[in-house]
Amino acid sequence: MLNNKVCLITGCNRGIGKAVAEQFAINGAVVFANARKPKSLDELTAHHHNIHPIYFDVTDRPAAKNAVVEVVNKCGRIDVLVNNAGILVDTTITMLNRQILRDIYETNVFAVFELMQLTSRVMYKQKSGNIINIASICGIEGGMRGQTAYSSSKGAVIALSKTAAKELGPDGIRVNAVAPGFIDTDMFRSGPAEIQERLIEGVYLNHRVGTPQEVADVCVWLASDKSSYVNGQVIGVDGFSHI
Ligand code: NDP
Repeated sequence: MLNNKVCLITGCNRGIGKAVAEQFAINGAVVFANARKPKSLDELTAHHHNIHPIYFDVTDRPAAKNAVVEVVNKCGRIDVLVNNAGILVDTTITMLNRQILRDIYETNVFAVFELMQLTSRVMYKQKSGNIINIASICGIEGGMRGQTAYSSSKGAVIALSKTAAKELGPDGIRVNAVAPGFIDTDMFRSGPAEIQERLIEGVYLNHRVGTPQEVADVCVWLASDKSSYVNGQVIGVDGFSHI
């Protein structure tokens, strides 16, 4: 579905990003997989000849710019950007401080803005491109207790995705957000065990949390030409998990 599409995906060494990189590779994309820890992509690249590691911290703008230039120098274009890298810090609003807020926004919002800006300049020249931002259901509904900062950062991702879709759509660039519910990754497991159990026993599809691959499959569809008339949308992948 993604034959030879040049794709840059952030946060690929584990969790949802790893699954997205793998599924894109299986579907024939040329994948530039980002991680911030050197060698953390060795396993992924050993299994997929079409995954190329590209190490940088997404909050480091000069490094992000160099990465975009590297992809363009190697392939001449960028067809797809997936902004997946994200962090979750649970802190109630009474305990929140500027540093925690800044850390969350640096990764979840500012880095997303900057990578969108850097890649959309390339896509604008191509008159084609596709940006997928991994948001969260909590960006729509609000999060659980302790998630004012995280959920508001994801709300920002949703609003910026919709507005960017309007700005960039006339030049052939699509921008969509994916809003996962509870997905079985380190991030989900970092929460309190009793909440996880309650979620699994809850009303959600098949009484289970989602898998990274189930998010990745939606990203494959969004990155492909099968979704060519889908723009400015927020696609929930949540098994009906209302927070
Ligand atoms: P994980 O915590 O499992 O993985 C997060 C990934 O982001 C890691 O690869 C991490 O790298 C990377 N990352 C974080 N900060 C940076 C940075 N500054 N530069 C480069 N990479 C970075 O999370 P998930 O896989 O669960 O989450 C992926 C996305 O999905 C996030 O945006 C998250 O907010 C969103 N999401 C997840 C949900 C869930 O239930 N799991 C629900 C809704 C949304 P490192 O290993 O170096 O830390």
